[in-house]
Amino acid sequence: MELSELGEFGWIDTIRRRFASIPVGANQGIGDDCAVLPLAEGQAWVVTTDMLVEGVHFLPDRITPYQLGRKSLAVNLSDVAAMGATPVASFLSVALPHSYTVEWADGFLAGYHALSEAFGVPLLGGDTTAGDRLTINVTAMGKAPLAHLKYRRSACVGDRIFVTGVLGGSAQGLCDLQAGHVDTPYVALHHDPQPQVREGIWLGQQPAVRAMMDLSDGLASDLVHILRASGCGAVIALEQIPAATSVELAVTGGEDYQLLLTLDARDASEVAQQYRNQFGKPLYEIGVIRQGAPQIEWQERGVPITPDWRGFTHF
Ligand code: ADP
Ligand code: MG
Repeated sequence: MELSELGEFGWIDTIRRRFASIPVGANQGIGDDCAVLPLAEGQAWVVTTDMLVEGVHFLPDRITPYQLGRKSLAVNLSDVAAMGATPVASFLSVALPHSYTVEWADGFLAGYHALSEAFGVPLLGGDTTAGDRLTINVTAMGKAPLAHLKYRRSACVGDRIFVTGVLGGSAQGLCDLQAGHVDTPYVALHHDPQPQVREGIWLGQQPAVRAMMDLSDGLASDLVHILRASGCGAVIALEQIPAATSVELAVTGGEDYQLLLTLDARDASEVAQQYRNQFGKPLYEIGVIRQGAPQIEWQERGVPITPDWRGFTHF
């Protein structure tokens, strides 16, 4: 059987089942944005790792080395933020083809360093090797009180669904690049995602926030992870989605790295108001969790519609 028949998430599930024979103890592994390793005194480490491959995640002649360095860390800090944790350290492994120059490596490190400095996250190690294709793997660790951590499995029927920012901008940037327009604001968004680090920590501190994850594959795919893990369905009001350009790109486009969360309905408007006071920008309410199969009902002004929308998967 081809791996494509199994699918990216089928493959991850195969791994999870294979390793179910080894007890994880109090730790929690595969299935969320980070693994969770509880410590003494109610604290926990969270750990995540993400790989970027030339030709799959980026084209080296389109993205600058600075942007690539920054993005390699950003996508990992986004997963730490998605748990409600504070980033503590990163590790950087690179497979470099011989054609890459010292100037390229300097630019890459400058971008990685700038984002590390912005959030005070030291680089504590990694690995370096030659390779046929530029491949970057980053591991990030974070820390939080166990009680602050947010999981995909915690959504409850009646919860309101929110996102922290505009969706579809990164996907629009990719479309612009493919059409040969390299200088649009969306291309900049695509190459320079902003991990919602402070927002994630703050949301972690709010007991009314139930489930949370970051949007890396697009709302249509990522929300289903919350629904499957929580055993419920959702209704999304398309007219409420803060779309950068088209609603379709906002729903299916990946790599926005905004946070997707559910809030206890009783506290939703109060928390949204406090968030606005804290960050000077809105939390966008886009729908509600309901009983039922782990599927999204898309509505346009209260009327269900049935588009064929899927998020991104690798195979
Ligand atoms: P994210 O987009 O948040 O980085 P992914 O969709 O990449 O998450 O992964 C989903 C879950 O599957 C995560 O918990 C991740 O750790 C796990 N996972 C992905 N690939 C592997 C693998 N090769 N081995 C073990 N776990 C994996
Ligand atoms: Mg994630």
